[in-house]
Amino acid sequence: MEVKKKILQHIDQHKNEIVEFLRSLIRIPSVTGSEKEISNFIAKKLDSLGLEVDVWEPNLNELKKHPGYVSVEMDYKDRPNVVGVWKGAGGGKSLLFNGHLDVINADPSVWKHNPWGGEIENGQLYGRGASDMKSGLAAMTMALACIIEVGIRLKGDVILEYVVDEEFTGHGTLDCILRNYKADAGVSCEASDLEVQPAATGSMWFEIKVDGKSASMSRIWEAVSAIEKGHVVHKAIQDYQTVRFEKRHPLYPDPKGALACFAGIFQAGSYPSSPPDTCTIKGRMGVLPNEDPADVKREFIEYIENAAKKDPWLREHLPRVEFTGYYAEPAEIPADHPICTTVISSFEEATMKKPVVRGHEGAADTRFLIKYGATPTVIFGPGTITQMHATDEWVRIEDLITSVKVLALTILNWCGWE
Ligand SMILES: [Zn+2]
Repeated sequence: MEVKKKILQHIDQHKNEIVEFLRSLIRIPSVTGSEKEISNFIAKKLDSLGLEVDVWEPNLNELKKHPGYVSVEMDYKDRPNVVGVWKGAGGGKSLLFNGHLDVINADPSVWKHNPWGGEIENGQLYGRGASDMKSGLAAMTMALACIIEVGIRLKGDVILEYVVDEEFTGHGTLDCILRNYKADAGVSCEASDLEVQPAATGSMWFEIKVDGKSASMSRIWEAVSAIEKGHVVHKAIQDYQTVRFEKRHPLYPDPKGALACFAGIFQAGSYPSSPPDTCTIKGRMGVLPNEDPADVKREFIEYIENAAKKDPWLREHLPRVEFTGYYAEPAEIPADHPICTTVISSFEEATMKKPVVRGHEGAADTRFLIKYGATPTVIFGPGTITQMHATDEWVRIEDLITSVKVLALTILNWCGWE
């Protein structure tokens, strides 16, 4: 029987095992900081498949020296990355898969389903990480597992990366790069609704300090309320978002979500009977992959300062804008890069349909692989974007199975076989 047909049939015959594997992943509550148990579970699975398995804790001191470093409070003690390598016979291209082990926390009291239960209802599998991104981990693992089980000898190497600390920093992936894992191309199995996503947006947090002037109640007319001046700045942030919404990128037909620029925190004052002399506004803004974050930062600061200059007080007391906290660069590879066209044709072979090709709304670890890891990487995964971090998070079981098929064919088409 033709090799690809054999693979697709094998996947159909092993649907239950694929689903059960995802359920076991969901039943391990791998909230960021507590990744050890799931790392061990994955390492055992890779070992049983016959891969070369590497388990290690990221090196914070080395990470700190890297330009991609984001400041963190937690270290990596008992939080190991896992990489499995399946050596090819030689003469083929290598392929790297990347997925993160950590999930955000879940409050069972507001969930209808057990967040750590892996319950199934109406073709959907529920649990924290179902979409973001344990279904992606299951897909990349089972795609290779099926190829191994069918006994196909690949030419190129396959590298499976399971990383810690994606939700806050991306250091898990960055540390795989420091450990020299790379390939001719990569697939990140982040939630993509089965879309082929060659691009991911960037995200930056900002902080603006606005000065007012305090005064005693008896001389209240001498005070300048930082709340009032903060509102001037807040209005400028809102206006700037409208300017941002004009930006365009071919892979983002409607980039509003990707470009969202708003304040999430507005703090001023400490005492009801004292006019506040400072106000702090914190927010985030999105960056498209065809923009330089440094330019966007500059433009934002200029915009806020120009708006402030229209106010007599703020003109003399310019707000101080800083970019601090979370920072993720946007990243993209050409939509006609061979890894994109390979995933697209594999999707067509597996489903008889054409995939949607679009940019990923949100930051992804692909930024490190593309920029520092010499591995052009596309995003393709079974998770649903609207379910990322959602209460009662779910993934469609059908999408999970489809993604295993697409990824298995991607491995065959990219790495070649004997
Ligand atoms: Zn994710």
